[in-house]
Amino acid sequence: MLIVMKFGGTSVGSAERIAHAAQLAVDTAAQGHQVIVVTSAMSKVTDTLITAARLASSGEWDPARREELFDRHQAVADALLGGDAARRGAVVEVLGQRLDRFEKLCFGLSMVHELTPRLMDAISGTGETLSAPLLSAAIATKGRPSQAIDATELIVTNDQFGGAEPLMDETRVKAGARLKPVIERGEIPVVTGFISATADGVMTTLGRGGSDYSAAILGAVLDAHEVWIWTDVDGVMTANPSEVPEARTLADISYSEASELAYYGAKVLHYKTILPAFRQRIPVRILNSFNPSHPGTRVSVEGNPSARGVKAVTSIRGVILIAISGTGMQGIPGIVAKTFDVVAEQQANVLMISQASSENNICFVLSAAEAPRVVNALRVALEFELSRGHIEEIAAEQQVAIVAAVGDRMRGMPGVAATVFGALGSEGINVIAISQGSSERNISLVVTEREAAGAVRALHRAFQLEKPA
Ligand code: ADP
Ligand code: ASP
Ligand code: MG
Repeated sequence: MLIVMKFGGTSVGSAERIAHAAQLAVDTAAQGHQVIVVTSAMSKVTDTLITAARLASSGEWDPARREELFDRHQAVADALLGGDAARRGAVVEVLGQRLDRFEKLCFGLSMVHELTPRLMDAISGTGETLSAPLLSAAIATKGRPSQAIDATELIVTNDQFGGAEPLMDETRVKAGARLKPVIERGEIPVVTGFISATADGVMTTLGRGGSDYSAAILGAVLDAHEVWIWTDVDGVMTANPSEVPEARTLADISYSEASELAYYGAKVLHYKTILPAFRQRIPVRILNSFNPSHPGTRVSVEGNPSARGVKAVTSIRGVILIAISGTGMQGIPGIVAKTFDVVAEQQANVLMISQASSENNICFVLSAAEAPRVVNALRVALEFELSRGHIEEIAAEQQVAIVAAVGDRMRGMPGVAATVFGALGSEGINVIAISQGSSERNISLVVTEREAAGAVRALHRAFQLEKPA
């Protein structure tokens, strides 16, 4: 089998974790599989890079930032490769080159004071170019030939910096030409997650948490048999375990459940990961690198639907509810169309929409980063309606959260919504807006951010998700 395995930041967060990840890759190859590894940056490194870029753009560049990153990675090289001076020297040289580039970019930024999305990608993607050579060298020291490969040589995207979209046909050609000879020789390529490049070779990123997506893209274009996402929990769980301690691992979920969960805030998978795998029906497994004997979660077409309807509860924080309201909106055509034209022009991503049937109010949810510019643009585009009083208000509510209950079997199952509202009602949690997609695979609700954790726990309890299905 050809298996693409991705290691997240905590799974490569120290020399010990990198050695362990290397062992997992080598063991899988020893069972006769072809293995392609995709790696994230070491934990916290991407955050550090982004902070450094922001500070540099406000004129505060401190060369100590480069040294800290260099020291952390060099210490890993020493621990992993100390006994092999040649290999260690080669890796440390690469680390130095990559950090020199980072330093130059930040220095330039501190002069021009302008941080464009394009520059941010060039800087924030540095972490993966440091971890990949370390993990590759760790694999090689275990006796399996390996090479680190920058995904800028493999994944071709559009130029939507900060969240680029892959061009799958171009990627298939490039990644195939570069990776196939390597795996056919029995080597294990270690590819940088998160980063990619335009057709002209300008570095892009796939968005925060995007290494999962890198693995799925490569799995799809190389016709892999499986994609394994190694992380720090036992798979996709009935809720975020840091929020609901009694959450359980789901042994099986469907592609649609996985994408709804990821879309509605289950950080364990980047929300775009499922699509490329689903198109080719490539099974995806989510596994715990800290507990590799656990079977984890398998994502497949069937996904073993649950008789309870709801399989998991998720939440997204830091979102803004925008409400457009006015008694004069009734029967006036085009307000909805104008509203969403503005949203589209602003390239904002609508997380949820709801409209009361009285037509007095439409509301939708956007990320906090996108909301202010959309509200400004709406006030301009709907100026006429506002001045005539057709619309009384365009309001942006602060500090809300979306809480979603997800499961394929909710479809056509009566009583699910009643359980949801009963559970929140008995906790005294006020529901600000509601939406159920016509797919009936989720019910999503807006609550205050303060009540989000309570709402998630109440729903988890109401559907008895802590008990085996
Ligand atoms: P990685 O660095 O391996 O990509 P992430 O931090 O991106 O890991 O994702 C794993 C984390 O996702 C878990 O540690 C957990 O806190 C969080 N998480 C949120 N929702 C869920 C869920 N439903 N199931 C499992 N983990 C979840
Ligand atoms: N290192 C990147 C991030 O922190 C990508 C990833 O970890 O998936 O967002
Ligand atoms: Mg992640």
